[in-house]
Amino acid sequence: MKKVLSVNNLSVSFDTYRSEVKAVRDVSFDLHEQETLAIVGESGSGKSVTAQSIMRLVPMPPGKFVGGSIIFNDEDLTEKSEKQMESIRGKDIGMIFQDPMTSLNPTMTIGKQIAEGLIKHQNMSKNDAHVRGVELLKLVGIPNPEKRIKQYPHEFSGGMRQRAMIAIALACNPKVLIADEPTTALDVTIQAQILDLMRELQKETGTAIILITHDLGVVANTAHRVAVMYGGKIVETGSVDEIFYNPKHPYTWGLLGSMPKLDNHGEELKAIPGSPPDLADPPKGCPFAARCPYVMKACGEHMPAYYESSETQKTACWLLDERAPKVEPPEFINVGGSKVHG
Ligand code: SF4
Repeated sequence: MKKVLSVNNLSVSFDTYRSEVKAVRDVSFDLHEQETLAIVGESGSGKSVTAQSIMRLVPMPPGKFVGGSIIFNDEDLTEKSEKQMESIRGKDIGMIFQDPMTSLNPTMTIGKQIAEGLIKHQNMSKNDAHVRGVELLKLVGIPNPEKRIKQYPHEFSGGMRQRAMIAIALACNPKVLIADEPTTALDVTIQAQILDLMRELQKETGTAIILITHDLGVVANTAHRVAVMYGGKIVETGSVDEIFYNPKHPYTWGLLGSMPKLDNHGEELKAIPGSPPDLADPPKGCPFAARCPYVMKACGEHMPAYYESSETQKTACWLLDERAPKVEPPEFINVGGSKVHG
C-alpha cells in the first residue's frame, strides 16, 4: 500500500511558567492508504498532541516543534504557514473529535457546516453543496437527511452528532482522517455503530485513518496496526495481532492486563500501579522504569533502543537485548492466540 503520511522523529514541547513540558519525544510512524493505525496510551502519553500536531492544531506558543518532520504530499507540514494549513485541513486531512458538541458550531445548521468545506475547497455552488450534504448524511446513516440537514446540532442525539461530524470530516474525500477518541463520549451500542460506520466508509473511500484511543477494545475491532505510546514516546508498534497476541513491552502487557474480559469470573482488573512520568522532567532512561516490575539498572540510565521482532513489530525495551535476563510474558497474554481479524 502507498504511504500517505510519514512522521519522522517528531518532538513537540510546551513552554510553561515552570519549565518545558516535552509532550512528544522523537516519535516516528508511517501511515498507508486504506490502513487504520491506532495510537493507544493513557492520558498524558502524548497521543492527542501527536494527532493535533499533524493537523497543526497545537497552539504555538506555548507549543513548539522541537524537531522532526511530518511529510504529507512530499511536503513538511511543520513548515507550513497557518494560511497554507487552512487549505489542507478539511480538504486533505479531516479530523473527528471526542465530543462533537464542542466541535460542531451550535449556531449553524448541520447542512451549512457540511457545505462550508465543499464551497471553500471544492468550489461547489450552494445548491450542489446542499445536494452533496444530503448524500453524505445518508451515507453516514442519518435517517430523513433532507429534513435533518436543516437542523442544528442540539436537535441531534450524541450518536447522530458524531455521525454528522464524520460526514463533515469526509465531505472533501480527505486522504487522511484523524479520529481522536471518537467514541469515548458515546454509549457502547452507539460506539459499535460508529466504529462499523468508520470501517465501512474506509472500504468505500480508501481513506487512511489514525485512531487515537485509550480503549484497546476499540483497537481490536478497528485497527490494522497499533502504536503504543507512553511518556511522550512510542514504546511498541506492531500489527494488531502482534500487539494482542505477541506483545513484548511490559507496558503493553500492563494495558492488556487491565482490559475487562467476558470470561472474568469476579477477578479484579489488574491496574498498572504508579503514575506516568512528569514530562517537565522526563526520566533519562526508559519512561516506564518507575512502574516496570522488570526494571534493571540500565533502564534508569539509558533510553532503550528499538528491537525488531518482525518486519512490523518494534519494541523499545532492554529486556529484548540478548544480555538481559529471560522474562516470560504474564500468563494472561495468549501468545500465538487466534487472530483479531479473521
Ligand atoms: Fe521495563 Fe526496562 Fe523494559 Fe523499560 S526498558 S520496560 S524499565 S524492562
